[in-house]
Amino acid sequence: MSYDKTKTDPKLGKEVRKYLISQGVETPVIPSMLEVEPKVKIDIIQDAMTTVYKTIGMDLSNDSLAETPNRIAKMLVLESFYGLQEDHFPKCTTVKNEMEYDEMVVEKEITLISQCEHHQSGVIGTATVAYIPKNKILGLSKIPRIVEYFSRRPQIQERLTAQIYHALSYILETDAVAVVVEAKHMCVCSRGVEDTNPYTITSKLGPPFKADAALRAEFMSLALSRKS
Ligand SMILES: [Zn+2]
Repeated sequence: MSYDKTKTDPKLGKEVRKYLISQGVETPVIPSMLEVEPKVKIDIIQDAMTTVYKTIGMDLSNDSLAETPNRIAKMLVLESFYGLQEDHFPKCTTVKNEMEYDEMVVEKEITLISQCEHHQSGVIGTATVAYIPKNKILGLSKIPRIVEYFSRRPQIQERLTAQIYHALSYILETDAVAVVVEAKHMCVCSRGVEDTNPYTITSKLGPPFKADAALRAEFMSLALSRKS
């Protein structure tokens, strides 16, 4: 999926980016490149991908391949890595917690599709996110949007998990947030150790989840149990 311009909040994206920098978990980016127009980036990447494909020995005059460099360039800028741009951050309207709900809200097994930044190969899995509302409640559809936004970057799973945690704790104004990511890394399946079995599990638990063993256990068992 690519982002929907009508559902973004560039101002919030800027604030979240600043907050992630203050927490030491922002993706290492070249700020000046983030200012470059998508069309210009697509042209630059298309030229570079033409060189890559020719160098590995593919004949780009073949009609199946002719559009591949342009296709890859568009995919990288507009889909796979759209989450690098703070102005693509999803709109996250919160509502006041008027009913004073004080139990865990859990979004379980949110689909997560990302790419590892070491090999640029696929990372496929799920994220389970919980929070205990303080003054604010977030629409449930917003949590998957935030997971998707940070997934659409070259990533390492540890940083992705931390970014989801910190963005949510900033938006919800509470550190009672917990995130577990379970994902399969294609680079582990298809190269190196070539094992298709392992999942990598990472978590980031806010202080209330760390301090309360029962709460932590409840969340982890919810997160790691299969619904079917
Ligand atoms: Zn990798």
